[in-house]
Amino acid sequence: MSNEICDLAIVGPGLTGLSAAVAAYCKDPNLTIKIFGIPFDSNTAKKGEIENIPGINKIIGVDFIQQLVEQVESFNTEFAKSEMASEDFSRILSIGENVTSIIKKDSKFEITTENGINSAKSVIISTGIPELKHTIKGEDDLLHKGVSHCAVCDGALFRGKKVCIIGEGNTVARGALFLRKYCRKVTVLIPSSELKCDLRNLRKIKSSPNIVLKFNIPLDSLEVFGTQIVEGIKYSEEGESKELSVNAVFIELKDKPNLSLLEGLGVETTDEGFIQTDENNTTNIDGLFAAGTIRGEIDYAAILMGDGYKTGIYAVEYLKKRV
Ligand SMILES: Cc1cc2nc3c(=O)[nH]c(=O)nc-3n(C[C@H](O)[C@H](O)[C@H](O)COP(=O)(O)OP(=O)(O)OC[C@H]3O[C@@H](n4cnc5c(N)ncnc54)[C@H](O)[C@@H]3O)c2cc1C
Repeated sequence: MSNEICDLAIVGPGLTGLSAAVAAYCKDPNLTIKIFGIPFDSNTAKKGEIENIPGINKIIGVDFIQQLVEQVESFNTEFAKSEMASEDFSRILSIGENVTSIIKKDSKFEITTENGINSAKSVIISTGIPELKHTIKGEDDLLHKGVSHCAVCDGALFRGKKVCIIGEGNTVARGALFLRKYCRKVTVLIPSSELKCDLRNLRKIKSSPNIVLKFNIPLDSLEVFGTQIVEGIKYSEEGESKELSVNAVFIELKDKPNLSLLEGLGVETTDEGFIQTDENNTTNIDGLFAAGTIRGEIDYAAILMGDGYKTGIYAVEYLKKRV
């Protein structure tokens, strides 16, 4: 199938995109589906355990993605570059191919990757929301020297140490709850006036003696410092400059959706910068669908899986009408 036009291209193989692939296959097993992106680079794969999917109390994220990849690969579905996959470990690193642009020519989409141009009759975009990086003073200089963008990946390295985590909502709450298991003290710096997270997480945080919450911390007041490794962080609280001595700073902030690869399409967006869709997750571009957090969907695994699934179904219905 590699060089032929495929029926459906799915760009962004996290929980959302892989669920879309399952649905599209179930609806029509004869479709050709090609998936672009690196599944093991998704939030689910990188961020440890995923909780509260109906029927699954807890699952290791990377295992869940592995199961989805295997399920999807058993269909008439191709991962860009998947032919390079061999043993388990190298497969994790080599599967997938990122997209640099999507344009529409005549009635088909042209999807460009570092390896060339692929054609598709329809596209589902589910690339999620990227992490916000390069915004805090000292972040880049001390990256991997105590600065990390993933509490779950690097937290255990700071066993018995004092650390700080910066972010909002469930993301920072989950990170802090992970860090409390290893670190002596976890200070949570929250830019807004409250921690909008699940009540269950909030209760756990409030009953953790080693977690301290600080609110209304302006991002532009933050500065990570240290000569060779992180020694602390400066911040402003109620207009007063403060300094905290920590061994690690975890930055878990979310950016705006990155729509640069859709620049040539003229996709409509919401005021908040998400892709605008109708109730079938159709965009203003004929044949282009959007699913998951990139269209502003709530960041819960089960919701995103449902949103991806629904999009897969509607994409197949579109293809049926198109032929
Ligand atoms: C720390 C943490 C813990 C969480 N825990 C839970 C939990 O316990 N329960 C729960 O319900 N939810 C949880 N979530 C939320 C949720 O599971 C994830 O955020 C969700 O998996 C996001 O899925 P997604 O498919 O929308 O995006 P992502 O997981 O971000 O996937 C997007 C995919 O698109 C790819 N991509 C990006 N750009 C390109 C490109 N140009 N070309 C091709 N591919 C591209 C990425 O590499 C990635 O594979 C957690 C989230 C975080 C951050």
